[in-house]
Formats: sequence, structure tokens, C-alpha cells
Amino acid sequence: MERPLLQPEGVLKPGPKSMVGDGFSVYHLFPGQQLPMQRTDPFLMLDYNPPWRIEPSNQPKGVDVHPHRGFETVTLVYSGEVAHADSAGNHGIVGPGEVQWMHAASGVLHKEYQSEAFTASGGVFHMAQLWVNLPAQRKMDPPSYGSIHRDQIQHLTMAGGHLELVAGMLGQNAEGTWFCLPSQEEFSESTFPKSAVGPATVCSPLWLFHWIQNQEGPGVFELVVPEGVTVLALVVEGVLGGELEGVDQGHLVVYHRNPNGGETLVRLEAHAGAKVLWMLGQPLNEPIAAYGPFVMNTKAQIQEAFEDYQNGRFGVLN
Ligand code: MN
Repeated sequence: MERPLLQPEGVLKPGPKSMVGDGFSVYHLFPGQQLPMQRTDPFLMLDYNPPWRIEPSNQPKGVDVHPHRGFETVTLVYSGEVAHADSAGNHGIVGPGEVQWMHAASGVLHKEYQSEAFTASGGVFHMAQLWVNLPAQRKMDPPSYGSIHRDQIQHLTMAGGHLELVAGMLGQNAEGTWFCLPSQEEFSESTFPKSAVGPATVCSPLWLFHWIQNQEGPGVFELVVPEGVTVLALVVEGVLGGELEGVDQGHLVVYHRNPNGGETLVRLEAHAGAKVLWMLGQPLNEPIAAYGPFVMNTKAQIQEAFEDYQNGRFGVLN
């Protein structure tokens, strides 16, 4: 079956770095003038912290207590360790290749720091944080938190490389073509001999995974995506090839959203050793009212979030 190729709409260059607290030195990729939240729906924000050498110390760097309501924060660690603690009583530490998935929902206070062990040893700190919006009916869910460890991430081998699946379902048909599958979809092992579901609990259809091209040579990744999804690809390691020759670490490829209906094929070439974070999601298409750490649907709900925060209804965290 011949599917139209989904073309990149553009490549966002990393701008100047900014500090988040004293522990995260990031390229703030979106939202921004070029890429408003409506364009990246259901994703709200992406900060990318490229490799940064941290000297050993006894004072962990990070962001002190702050609130969130109405969405999820997803922290992907490539090098170093991130520690989390929140007012719902959750805490966890994730290291290289691991992910924190915090369902802030109705609201938590939390703090995010480089771990004590990493702080003591020092080393290279490299991570990304993605904010994922929640559908209106899930924004006031009780908060929850998950650490996704290395052995939970689904590894899918492919010619010349592999995929590391964090969220959503991917399947490969007998011809070797990869598909984003809605996880509720009926599928048979004869249609998709290879498939996997990521360990993250998601509240709307989305797919989050890394494509890693091995060190032996360049490669091509192709994926069939459903109609109308948002498709974003962040270069985490290495360099892209083909039409995007030379695009490297910290650049975000933004694809068109298939205006003509039906499935499309996304195709990306990369040089040996490249690592790309793929973020795909069905837009929620709901109103967005965002102010700082609160993302709701109306201004009145933002006002309510401030009042609840000021009145201590997000709990206590020291
Ligand atoms: Mn936070």
C-alpha cells in the first residue's frame, strides 16, 4: 500500500540556554512564538538539557518546591540521576535510560533535584522534560507518580538499530513496516508479528519512544502514523542525514499534520550512533488556558488553581 510521505514543516534550532532552578540548563524548545501549545497538542512544553558537566559537591542542584495542575510531567534521563519528591508522598530516583512520569492532574507540590549520589560523584548531566496535556475530564484526577525503570522499557530490534518504547503501542508487519497502533485496536500476531506496549499509563492516544541507530552505519526509520497526529522528533545524540543532513543535537523536527486524511508515512535518515526522541499524539483539540505551572481549559479554572495553591490545597512538601 502506497502511503503519502509526511513532510517536515520545519526544524526548530535550539536558542540560548536558560536555567531552571540551578540544576537544569536547558534549550526551551516549546511553547514559543514559532511553536505555540496548540501546534504541539497534546504536548505542552519541551525543555532539553544537553550534556552538561557537573563537578562533585555535597549540594544537589535542582528546582525547589513548586506546584503543577492539569497535566503530566515526563522526565527522560540520558546521563546522571534525577530525584523527585512530591506532596502526595511519592519519591523516586531515575538514572540513564529511565523516565519519571508524573500525573500531576488535580495538583501536587514537587521538587526535582540531581540525586545525592550523582551530586557526590559529579559527571555528565543530560536529560529532557516533556509536559503532556490531560483531557478535560482527567485534569482533576487524583495525582499519581511513576518511575519507569530500564527493565520496563520495551526494546524492539530493527535492521541497523532498535527502538526503546516508553508509551503507546508499536507494531511491525510482515513486510517490516512499523505502525503506531491505538492500543485498544484489535490486531493479530499474523498482521503484526512484532509489537509492544510501552510501560507508561497514558490518558489519550500518544506514542513516546527513542530510535537508536547503531554505530556500524547510517540508517532509515519509517513509521506509519494515524491521521491528524502531531509528530515531533528531537535529536538527542548524533546527526540526521538525507534531506535533513547535518541537523544535530538539540534540534526539533516538526512534521506537518497530514491535512488530507488517512495514514501517512514518516521517514527519517540518520548517521551511525544517532538517537532520536519521537513524540506523537492525537491532538486533544480542547481549549488551553495556561499560566506558569497550571494548564487548564478556562481562565476561571486557572484562578481556582491559584486560590487552591494559596490556600494550601496542594498539600505540604518540605
Ligand atoms: Mn516541576
